[in-house]
Amino acid sequence: MNVPFVDLKPQYLSIKEEIDNAIADVLTNTSFIGGPIVNAFETNFANYLGIKNCIGCGNGTDAIEIVLEAMGIREGDEVIVPAMSWIATSETVSSVGAKPIFVDILPNKFTIDPKAVRRKITSKTKAIIPVHLYGRSAEMEELFEIACEHNIKLIEDSAQAIGAQYKGKNIATFGDVATFSFYPGKNLGAYGDAGSIVTNDDDLASKCRIIANHGQTSKHNHIIEGRNSRLDTIQAAILDVKLKHIEKWTEKRLANAKYYNELLKDLPISIPTIDDSHRHVFHVYVINVRNRDEVKKKLADVGISTQIHYPKALTSLKPYTNTNVEADYPTATKLAETGLSLPMYPELEKEQMDYVASCLKNILT
Ligand SMILES: *Cc1c(COP(=O)(O)O)cnc(C)c1O
Repeated sequence: MNVPFVDLKPQYLSIKEEIDNAIADVLTNTSFIGGPIVNAFETNFANYLGIKNCIGCGNGTDAIEIVLEAMGIREGDEVIVPAMSWIATSETVSSVGAKPIFVDILPNKFTIDPKAVRRKITSKTKAIIPVHLYGRSAEMEELFEIACEHNIKLIEDSAQAIGAQYKGKNIATFGDVATFSFYPGKNLGAYGDAGSIVTNDDDLASKCRIIANHGQTSKHNHIIEGRNSRLDTIQAAILDVKLKHIEKWTEKRLANAKYYNELLKDLPISIPTIDDSHRHVFHVYVINVRNRDEVKKKLADVGISTQIHYPKALTSLKPYTNTNVEADYPTATKLAETGLSLPMYPELEKEQMDYVASCLKNILT
């Protein structure tokens, strides 16, 4: 049997007519940038989360960078980020001239360790960017407290976690602002690059919108220098269709994760924890296993494709090794060595998961 890591095709086929019609409408109207379709998606996305403002933009990386710029974060400032994430989380801090300050993650949860955050706060700290890694909420209550105590901004990198909750409340609603990526492989994926910024702060929302559109408040009225980072109308049309289905797909991911957990519970590996205080949306399903690289290869030999999120902690990547050593981030370093992402997507079939589990069992015993 072949089990792909992700297969985007069955999802497209399941909504083909809706998607094809939505794209055809954009083509018929030849309105490719902005317009009512982009506005409608922004409104629907904000409503889905229960947040006042949504600003569509080019991708999830731009979203973070625009937010940092709108907050006036720049050279001389420090921004706290987790040691394990996709590089966009730290890259954007450097892009605005500030310094990313890394903090280790919590064992088993894999999100930023709030106690370690406290230890890294200095007079230069301007913001914390928790990442809801793999689709599991960071510890938002504690992080919110820290941000309030020190009067620093809280920016939720929610790229992997649409629909996730912390103690019954949607992620992206705890901080000052949150950012999303609609990269095709993300849980709410466009058919190209796309991203968004959401916030209840009207002033921040307006600044972000201006930055993302060449510093214009209206056509040809440039009050600052900005950039071009817009959400394409075709992508907005696709996302608006997919948003209607996201809850159903999230429930399927969660059901798949529970099924994996049941199948894998007696193996000599650690499996993701699922608990009532965190609605985990399983962007990826990560196990921790010894001899990870060998296990990965043996799974590939029997037709199962897996991935690693990520093979190195951010702090072990070349741009950051001058100022960071592995020993200071033991949990992130260990996750990089043992983490293995098994096939996960809403349309994954039970038989495929049965096969993954039985192959893993054979390999490990
Ligand atoms: C995907 C991702 C991003 C960046 O999103 P792009 O749309 O690819 O620019 C940022 N942060 C995290 C945690 C991500 O997973």
